[in-house]
Amino acid sequence: MSLKVGAHVSVSGGVEKAVERQKEIGGNCGQIFAGSPRTWSVAEYTDEEGESFQNGTRDEGQNPYVIHSTYLVNLGTPKDDLFEKSLNCLQSELDAAEKLGVEYVVFHPGAHTGSGRKNGIQRIAEGIDELNIPEGVTLLLENTAGKGTTLGRSFGELREMIEKSSTPEKKLGVCLDTCHAHAAGYELREKEGFQDMIQEIEEDLGLEKVKVLHLNDSKNEKGSEKDNHQHIGEGNIGEKGFKNLVNSEKFEQLPMVLETPVTDEKGYSENLAKIKKLKN
Ligand SMILES: [Zn+2]
Ligand SMILES: [Zn+2]
Repeated sequence: MSLKVGAHVSVSGGVEKAVERQKEIGGNCGQIFAGSPRTWSVAEYTDEEGESFQNGTRDEGQNPYVIHSTYLVNLGTPKDDLFEKSLNCLQSELDAAEKLGVEYVVFHPGAHTGSGRKNGIQRIAEGIDELNIPEGVTLLLENTAGKGTTLGRSFGELREMIEKSSTPEKKLGVCLDTCHAHAAGYELREKEGFQDMIQEIEEDLGLEKVKVLHLNDSKNEKGSEKDNHQHIGEGNIGEKGFKNLVNSEKFEQLPMVLETPVTDEKGYSENLAKIKKLKN
């Protein structure tokens, strides 16, 4: 079967521009920010913009799309003001997704910053329950590199967040980022290690919870807890790791989104072509 693979594209100049950018690199699914990822501002789209994006993605056969939440969001925080701000921001992103016909909103669950793992996870679950997740939109928790007090480095931890929340299970899922998994110590290169990861997902989370893959190679060693993305096949995960992934019957049907570096020499087109080449 042919892969669903695209990239995280810019919305600068208008959200409909994302569709053109995706087309240029040859993607058939994708991801955007609904605002500036390092600020709290989220775009409020008009009905017109919503329609234009929906028509564009439909005409070009680009689906599904994902909105990546801003990096400031932290539902695991013990601080009430940051928690509130995070909720407002996520809600705006969920509303933007509804307007744009975007199927998924993905966020990094957050960090407990000293309140402890248990409290942090509880807080994240409570935060999820405060949100109004629109019909047709699924909220995804992304696995993390696990640095410091960051939560969500393991599939069991993501499962705990989902389980502690009383939001209907079908409204929640997980986005698996390969660079973060590698940074958190998961083995993707060796067949055996890769199978172990799949088994852990099956046992601790449930494979059906994984809805989207983020494909990124890593500049750092396995277990480094460092989140530095690299071009596909040129980092520590390497071609072997991505070969395992794109040829795994557990994952091959999932939408794959590249968040690889974009430089003068190399961008998404090359990385996308590399992924397709690794598919048997
Ligand atoms: Zn992310
Ligand atoms: Zn990611």
